[in-house]
Amino acid sequence: MPTPFPSRHAAPTSWIGAANIKPTTPSAEWRCMRCDKLLGVCRDGRMHLRFARGHEYFVGFPVVATCRGCGTLNQATAPAR
Ligand SMILES: [Zn+2]
Repeated sequence: MPTPFPSRHAAPTSWIGAANIKPTTPSAEWRCMRCDKLLGVCRDGRMHLRFARGHEYFVGFPVVATCRGCGTLNQATAPAR
C-alpha cells in the first residue's frame, strides 16, 4: 500500500501563529469619565489596574476607582465587550 503523503504540509504553520498571537482579543480601556485618563484595562472579564511602583491588581466587577488625575470617582459595572 502506498503511504499517503500530503503535499500541503506547510499549511498548519499559518494557524499556529494565529493561535499564539490572538489579534482578536479585546483589550477594552477603562478611562476616567471626566479627564479621559487611563484607569485600567479589561482583560478576560476582569479589570487590570496598574498603580505606581509596579503594583498591579486584577479585580472583578463592579469596579470603583478614583482617578489619579482629577479625583473623580469612576465605576465600571461590567466588562466592556
Ligand atoms: Zn480624571
